[in-house]
Amino acid sequence: MKIGIVGAGMVGSAAGYAIALKGSASQIVFVDYNSDLARAQAQDIAHAVPFASSTVVTAGDYDMLKGAGIVILAAGVGQKPGESRLQLLARNADVFRQIIGKVLSAAPDAVLIVATNPVDIMTQIATRLSGLDPARVVGSGTILDTARFRYLIGVHLGIAPQSVHAYVLGEHGDSEVLAWSSARAGALSVKEFAAQMKSPLTENVKAKIDDGVRNAAYTIINGKGATWYGIGAGLERLVRAISRDEQTVQSVSIVTPKVEGVHDVALSIPRIVGATGVVADLFPELDDAEHDALGASARLLKSTLDALDY
Ligand code: ADP
Repeated sequence: MKIGIVGAGMVGSAAGYAIALKGSASQIVFVDYNSDLARAQAQDIAHAVPFASSTVVTAGDYDMLKGAGIVILAAGVGQKPGESRLQLLARNADVFRQIIGKVLSAAPDAVLIVATNPVDIMTQIATRLSGLDPARVVGSGTILDTARFRYLIGVHLGIAPQSVHAYVLGEHGDSEVLAWSSARAGALSVKEFAAQMKSPLTENVKAKIDDGVRNAAYTIINGKGATWYGIGAGLERLVRAISRDEQTVQSVSIVTPKVEGVHDVALSIPRIVGATGVVADLFPELDDAEHDALGASARLLKSTLDALDY
């Protein structure tokens, strides 16, 4: 499948690199208003391909997106140190106004994957601007937070993150909800698994993992200015789920008719992802505090949206 990536910065190029290395697309086309950057990223990644796959990597104008089955929207302005994801909003909404129409005239049948932050709001904006079925405008949402959550639980339990089934819900940002009550490792609750491994999941351990997930982006931004490898790999995972019609469960963000009493809000819950985008929504079993936190996250996103004129 041909994949378009609009925005050839750190996140877009990391996604392209991951897709090329895994060979999960036959072709990748980078588009960026900085056309020199798009060309340079395409060449650099193309030179990695002989070591890994047969993906053809090029760069060009929006016309070159013709025939793309998926277009990743990674264009935007970067997050500055100390800046919250929501503060990025106004600047990035303008970018989407400039690009969505051009993407859809070239690739009217593509599934859109939204990666630009604040991703939930940008997903809502992309859905409205595109006029597409919300299921076809998939925000990367908490896919990365979920990966961080699984990684840290895995480290604590001494097992591979792939054996951990745990999700981060709600906003990709400060109000996100770590769904501890439904977190499992193998066939056990993480609590029971930890007890059997003699490394109990104390409140202190949970608080450390919560902090590690919730503040990972801030820590990484302080150290290297931005984050890109984790989200790049997450975007590749979504591309694979869509291009291969996998029907895998991923925590992604789409405009959802109703979550915790809040209507038409884009946020993450586990969803089945396949060729057409999101195929079904799953509402996990949560305890009361998690329900409340998810409701608060939904209301926060909704109030931001309501304040925004787009
Ligand atoms: P991130 O870390 O989120 O990838 P970057 O600043 O590295 O942030 O990348 C964002 C990319 O989006 C930049 O390469 C920038 O040139 C591109 N971009 C910004 N605005 C537009 C636009 N209106 N059209 C196309 N590309 C854009």
